[in-house]
Amino acid sequence: MLALSARGVLPKVDYAIFADTGWEPQAVYDHLDRLEREIANPAGIPILRVSSGNIRDDALDPDHRFASMPLYILNPDGRPGMTRRQCTGEYKIKPIKRKIRELLGYPHPVRIPKDVFVEQWVGISTDEFHRAKDSDVKYMRNRHPLIDLGWSRDDCVRYLTSIGLADTPKSSCLGCPFHGNAQWRHIRDNSPKEWEDVVAFDAAIRKGNARANASGNQLLGQAFLHRSRVPLAEAPIDHVTASEWAAMQRRLGDDSVDVEELEAGVVEGCSPWACRGAAPDMARDDFGLAS
Ligand code: SF4
Repeated sequence: MLALSARGVLPKVDYAIFADTGWEPQAVYDHLDRLEREIANPAGIPILRVSSGNIRDDALDPDHRFASMPLYILNPDGRPGMTRRQCTGEYKIKPIKRKIRELLGYPHPVRIPKDVFVEQWVGISTDEFHRAKDSDVKYMRNRHPLIDLGWSRDDCVRYLTSIGLADTPKSSCLGCPFHGNAQWRHIRDNSPKEWEDVVAFDAAIRKGNARANASGNQLLGQAFLHRSRVPLAEAPIDHVTASEWAAMQRRLGDDSVDVEELEAGVVEGCSPWACRGAAPDMARDDFGLAS
């Protein structure tokens, strides 16, 4: 959408906002710098980088409240579970809203008059139109220009390729549990330092986040980044056949994912304005936590 706006296919936007969780792959930060240099700056579109902190550091900091990532849990009785996702709200939605209020001149908690609002573009394509939603606040009105153009994901990839951006990386936290095996392998095979980083993080959250542990609310089960609920360093991220995965699901009692999703990742991964809607049944705020 930034390129379409900068090149006059869509009207010119006043700003583009990037919500930085502090833990994106280096390739994403490099790509953002490139977009800024080659596309946004020449068109006079400022890219505003907003942040609520560093999700990785916060998870491991006993003095910091942890906005839960969607971790895979193995309870003491062997039942599988998940922690509810709060990270998108904390690290993406919150800082974007804060910045928008600031741009409008009504920083929190000042009341915003009802006729004051921004038009916010959300980059959802036609294949996921069911994720297009109205904003939950009156000072932001959502528009979905890719849907208006009738563009699918493939159309977007074709356009990016045509303007020399075929290598656009997928934005998400380096250690996001929504990764599929393809993404985990990509990190392992292309970026050994980042792989070391996610493996170390996975080991560090096995008993839950640092704040919960420090306050005596430690996890009774174990937490994992990989869906198999096996430590990431040993998790089956290379080719998994449908029958191997079916056997693993039987062992875990988790039949919520098929082998394609295991490979490609959670289809509706992490997007500030297009959450997955209802949380899966086994997701709980306090799942497996001591009271
Ligand atoms: S990318 Fe994953 S870990 Fe990061 S904020 Fe989104 S859901 Fe949370």
